[in-house]
Order: sequence, then C-alpha cells, then structure tokens
Amino acid sequence: MTHEVVGNPHCHTRYSDGHGNHQDIARAAIDAGLDFVVVSDHNVWVGGMDGYRYRGRDRVLLLVGEEIHDQDRQPQKNHLLVYESGEELAAYAHDTQTLLDAVRARDGLAFLAHPSDPAAPLFDEDDLSWEDWTVSGFNGIELWNFMSEFKSKLSSRLRAVLLAYNPSLIAEGPFPDVLERWDRMLSDGKPVYAIGGSDAHAAPASMGPLKRVIFPYEFLFQTVNTHVLLENPLSGDSAEDRRRIFRAMRAGRCFVGYDLPAPTHGFRFSAFGDRDEAAMGGSLDLRLGATVQIHTPRRALIRLIKDGRIVQTWRDSQSAVHTVREPGAYRAEAYLSYMGKLRGWIYSNPIFIR
Ligand SMILES: [Zn+2]
Ligand SMILES: [Zn+2]
Repeated sequence: MTHEVVGNPHCHTRYSDGHGNHQDIARAAIDAGLDFVVVSDHNVWVGGMDGYRYRGRDRVLLLVGEEIHDQDRQPQKNHLLVYESGEELAAYAHDTQTLLDAVRARDGLAFLAHPSDPAAPLFDEDDLSWEDWTVSGFNGIELWNFMSEFKSKLSSRLRAVLLAYNPSLIAEGPFPDVLERWDRMLSDGKPVYAIGGSDAHAAPASMGPLKRVIFPYEFLFQTVNTHVLLENPLSGDSAEDRRRIFRAMRAGRCFVGYDLPAPTHGFRFSAFGDRDEAAMGGSLDLRLGATVQIHTPRRALIRLIKDGRIVQTWRDSQSAVHTVREPGAYRAEAYLSYMGKLRGWIYSNPIFIR
C-alpha cells in the first residue's frame, strides 16, 4: 500500500533571512495540513531542531536541511538545497562540485534550488539562478519554486501590489526553461528528480503606504509542495520517519503539487509491464509491452510527456492510460482552470521505460 505524505522542503527562519522561528513554521505547517516541513536556512545547519511538533492531536514532522551558496560570489547564484548531511557544509560553498562531493560523501541529498530565478530590478532583487550546469552528483532540482515565480512577475510596482494582495494569481507552473533542461537530463537517462517548494520567508514588505507580509508561512505551505509516496504510514518515530521521507525523495518517489487550486493528494503515475510495474522514479523493461497510467484527484487536463515531447493529452479527465511503444523517460503533468487561467497543478517524477 502506498501512503502519501505532503511536505514543503524549502523555507527560512530568522537563523538566515526568514522572519519566523521554527515554532512559527511548525504551527503554520500544521495549519496548512502538511505532514512534514524542512527548514533550509541559508548557509547554516541549525541542528537539534528535528522532530515532531504537536498541537492538540495534530502534528508535523519538522526537519532540518540547509540552502548553501557561495556568499562571496556576486550575484550570489547556485543555491543548493542539502538534506541528510547531518552537519554544516557551508565551508564547501566556494566550489559547487566540491560542495556536491561533500554532500555525497556524507550520504546526503542535494537538489539545485530555484534553477531559474530571474532578477527583479524594481525591487533590487538579483538573478539567483543556477549556473554551474557542468556539475554532477546532485539528486534533483527544485522544479517549481513559488517565490521565484512571484519574483519573475514583478514587472511594475502596481503589478507587485496586485499580486501581493492576490497571491492566488501568481502561480502558473514551473519555468519552461527549467522543464526543458530537466527533460534533456531525463532523456539522457539521468535520474534527476523534481521537488517543489515555497521558499517561504514571511518577509514584511512595504510599498509606499501599503504594508504586507510576503507571504505568511501558512499561505505558502498551501501552494507548491512535494508529495512523497511511502510504503507504510509514518511511525511517529522522528528519526525513522525522516530517513524514510528522504529515502523516497532520493528515489524520485514523489511529485510536485500546487495545492492551492485543489489538493493534489491522491495523484498517481505508474507503469505496468507483462511481468512487473514501476512507480515514479522507477524503471521498467518494455519487453512485450507496457502501459502507463495516470490518476488525478479531480478532473483535469492531463498530459503525458516523453523525452520532452507531449505524446498524449486528455481533456477533463481523471484517469488516463497510454500504451507505450517506445522506450524513453515518461512523466505526467496535470492542469486546472483556476483564477481565470489554465494553471500547472501536478508534475510527476519520471518513469524510465527501457
Ligand atoms: Zn535560494
Ligand atoms: Zn531559499
């Protein structure tokens, strides 16, 4: 049986440039209905914070990670989300490959944070995209980062105010250049897996007389999340559950869901062959034939992508079956109409059909 847990793997506290503390984040994560949340402060591994946080009968597993980049570099590009390293690795930040090697040596996980993060010159925000694409040894990418998308839309002060007060108008999907780069890596057979995060800071912002928090943790934790598929329910033992969640993320047994228009809980993408089957992150031999099956928790526009090309589209559907005739890296996307637009809703991890 598959057990789905929902989490947000990217947010910040006052230990770096966030504006809340771990308790605020735990409370907001419980309010948002998350099962786990990873605090990933910039260049500081805040140890000793892992564990279940409770409020009444509700709980959330708060985990510690780190977002590392070279602070001497201008602009400060190449942010790396690091999990399970168990210790501070910011000292390796001067060289991204050295850093990735250090994560690997500790059996940690590394995901390239906001691979595309355009500048917002009106607000003195630099371009913080990933640039070192020659590196190797990372587990995946943060395919969809809510705050990067917000940043990309700050074309005028008026627009910024409109979006700050109507944040449900912001998200439309991962940046096309990030999807394209990811598809290229997948079609080369590279096991590079996607996660999605909010990058929540809960920063107060003022634009003239208008003041607002951009955006509260509890709002952002209802937006772009990572849904992780486990074989058993969470046990309540924080160390064991932490290991299981990260093991599944390492294996690509997860998908990216934009939970604001409608919960993405229940989405499934699997492949079935004559003798075996594969879940997201897995692979399957084509042999006599195979099908891939997609299920969404409500009717949506569903797309099946192979090596970066759309192979089939289903409109207003909740389940889809495709007979696979060619090997390749297959992944699924689902879109919903929300706030006057067709918006990206779900992005699966790939299944490699060989
Ligand atoms: Zn960052
Ligand atoms: Zn961040």
